[in-house]
Amino acid sequence: MKTFCGRANPTTGAMEWVEEDENYDYHQEIARSRYADMLHDKDRNTKYYQGIRAAVSRVKERGERAIVLDIGTGTGLLSMMAASAGADFCYALEVFKPMANAAVKIVEKNGFHDKIKVINKHSTEVTVGPDGDMQCRANILVTELFDTELIGEGALPTYEHAHKYLVQAGCEAVPHRATVYVQLVESNRMWAWNKLFPVRVKAEDGEKIIVAPSEMENCPGVPSVCDIQLNQMPSRDFTVLSDATAMFRVEFSKPVRSASTCYRVPLEPVRSGKAQIVLSWWDLDMDPFGRINCTMAPYWIKPNSAFQWRDHWMQCVYFLPNEEPVLQGQLVSLTAWRDEYSLWYELQKARGEEEKEADVRVESPVCRCQAHLLWNRPRFGELNDQNRTQQYIRSLMKVLKADSVCLCISDGSLLPMLAHYLGAKQVPSFFLLLWSLGFSFLFAFFKANHLEDKIKIIEARPEMLESSHLEDQKISVLVGEPFFTTSLLPWHNLYFWYARTAVASHLTSSVTVLPQSASLHMMIVEFQDLWRIRSPCGTCEGFDVQIMDDMIKNSLNFRESKEAEPHPLWEYPCKSLSDPQEVLTFDFRKTVPQHCLSTEGSVTLLRKGTSHGAVLWMEYHLAADISISTGLMQISNEKGNCEWNPHCKQAVYFFSSVIESETLPALPSAVTYAINFDTKTGEIAMDFKL
Ligand code: SAH
Repeated sequence: MKTFCGRANPTTGAMEWVEEDENYDYHQEIARSRYADMLHDKDRNTKYYQGIRAAVSRVKERGERAIVLDIGTGTGLLSMMAASAGADFCYALEVFKPMANAAVKIVEKNGFHDKIKVINKHSTEVTVGPDGDMQCRANILVTELFDTELIGEGALPTYEHAHKYLVQAGCEAVPHRATVYVQLVESNRMWAWNKLFPVRVKAEDGEKIIVAPSEMENCPGVPSVCDIQLNQMPSRDFTVLSDATAMFRVEFSKPVRSASTCYRVPLEPVRSGKAQIVLSWWDLDMDPFGRINCTMAPYWIKPNSAFQWRDHWMQCVYFLPNEEPVLQGQLVSLTAWRDEYSLWYELQKARGEEEKEADVRVESPVCRCQAHLLWNRPRFGELNDQNRTQQYIRSLMKVLKADSVCLCISDGSLLPMLAHYLGAKQVPSFFLLLWSLGFSFLFAFFKANHLEDKIKIIEARPEMLESSHLEDQKISVLVGEPFFTTSLLPWHNLYFWYARTAVASHLTSSVTVLPQSASLHMMIVEFQDLWRIRSPCGTCEGFDVQIMDDMIKNSLNFRESKEAEPHPLWEYPCKSLSDPQEVLTFDFRKTVPQHCLSTEGSVTLLRKGTSHGAVLWMEYHLAADISISTGLMQISNEKGNCEWNPHCKQAVYFFSSVIESETLPALPSAVTYAINFDTKTGEIAMDFKL
């Protein structure tokens, strides 16, 4: 059996279906899974263990046999904890087959095969009875089915079903309850991830302001959760408007309802300001008395407590549909709407005593303006970055002439509008080549700025461009950001180069290309925490989980050459161990060459530390002296702490030898590398030796 996987081709910018080995999905899922991160989460593990011990004791004190149901057992960890705590029998359910197989082996290796039955089924398929998967209903329900939004992985319907069919009434549950907390804040930085601010352009004939179409003003955006490492958000980037408040609770030892509903709480603003964002996180009480608590609260809520770093649970950012002014001391009410899998928020002025139960409105937010489908949240942030816009403005001013005929190749770009205001005055002087999403949205955008006659959108792929599209003109200025929505890794935006090559016959012989070139940069780093997600655990709470480590390693090695993975490094602190180094350059003034571009060399390690991996990013050279980095912004102190572009993901290549051993005896003084850009596939292969 073969599997087909959708993948963007960086040489065509198009999504293609690639035939893969039948194990491909499994390996991808395991290699990129959060299992290792969960097993490294000491705080989570110890609290589960304490909660499970306490629950088993309570059942035993009642003189009952302790029968455990562990839904989503993964490695079998929580069932092994229960068995060690004295449970009489555990049913460990795991729907993902490779994990269920691993759980069987791990349980066996740790000597629990007579106490734990691993069942490779989704919980809703499990049967109970003398001939069933489970002999009888369980009286202890243990699960870890939560994501950053708590309910996004289907915890509610799973609990609802389990209480109906798989556990006894009055069962113990670990965790016992979850509480979702909210805090109202004002934050232009985060608000800029969902709304487009007016763009100011100082042109020769005065200041022009590019505005968003009115549909965007009131658009609620998309329902997908915005989960981030809120602990990396400096306090200067937001203003707290309310205390952190419990929004709602879910009691797991009682029947759970998953049907859509809403919750409402009054909030008293502690400061006047613009309510824009609801920050949210949750905690778990592992026991009924709230003595064993595992919290995702960010740093400013519990300033003195030791933090557990984790990536499998972070914090959520919710965007209110509109910003609302609030006054210190004047009550407002916040409504959380939820369906089975997601949450969204609304703020109302408090209406007083007579307030009734809120109507249950089930529709989740739907983007009506199309912008939120075209631009994801980091892209909004990028377009709102005035510094970045200034760099493009300065560069465009250098290259544009009154009679320039321009062509823009970039997804959902505002460059045509900038360029129109800054020079190119012939009509139409600007062509925007577009073949993906967003045609009608961009047209509405140009119209809102009265530019619909000035900028012509050509709906054609670059290789299909014809002279008639350009009204028989040749292009004198070719621009791009470059940005393409299908790009995953930094070098995928080199698609601009391929598109530039495809339209070569339409360019004048003296064409100006902006950016004129790009370069790939690389630096060796030590991560503060991110290394954990790819690092083996060996034992976890005394249980041998090496089988899991081996399985992850095997999946990582599934592809012959290991691949770099994208991570937004502003969320993952690291320090540089080497100087940043330019490793490859790509000259957009020329067409893509036939041959591969490759380089070899070595980087000297300048600082002490563990070399966890290499970070790679692109820099675009817009014009002489004007460059934009999509990676490193600066190394902020002598310790080597790095500041990264907050709108882009960087490529991280984890070194396998560090993955194997965190305690390398001696530090290597240099790392050698070989990097190859295959112009046929648009992919970069790399190899490092410590
Ligand atoms: N319990 C483990 C792993 C938690 S990850 C630990 O705490 O370390 C959650 C696991 O639950 C995943 O492996 C997922 O495949 C599985 N899962 C989620 N919903 C499930 C369901 N309804 N029935 C069975 N397995 C489920």
